[in-house]
Amino acid sequence: MAYDDNNIFAKILRAEIPCDKVYENDVALAFKDIQPQAPTHILVIPKGAYVSMDDFSANASDAEIAGFVRAVGVVAREAGAVEDGYRILANHGRDAHQEVPHFHIHVFAGRDLGGMIRRPPA
Ligand code: AMP
Repeated sequence: MAYDDNNIFAKILRAEIPCDKVYENDVALAFKDIQPQAPTHILVIPKGAYVSMDDFSANASDAEIAGFVRAVGVVAREAGAVEDGYRILANHGRDAHQEVPHFHIHVFAGRDLGGMIRRPPA
């Protein structure tokens, strides 16, 4: 899947639309999700143009991957989520209901987050 320069996170990276920024390093930007699903719901995105985890893991440089993973750790730590716990999640493609085609990791915290994934109807 080709990268779409007009996706909403590309526009945030170009500062064409605002975001509620919580952290930034040389390869990653983190901001609050606009429709939070937990008291803490932060998105961490690479600054490079990667569609999803599949693209990022195959094509990003080691420095981008290291800086990105460190950014996720800092975001969770600075959110005060280490002691009580947090969940990270990345959706790739149709079955995972990925909405925005720019790789991102969700960081959820601030309450009991329940079971890992929704079970299929019996
Ligand atoms: P996903 O389904 O993993 O692609 O998740 C996309 C996430 O992006 C959703 O949780 C949305 O609420 C969030 N989102 C969409 N537009 C924005 C925006 N402008 N600022 C912050 N979060 C957004």
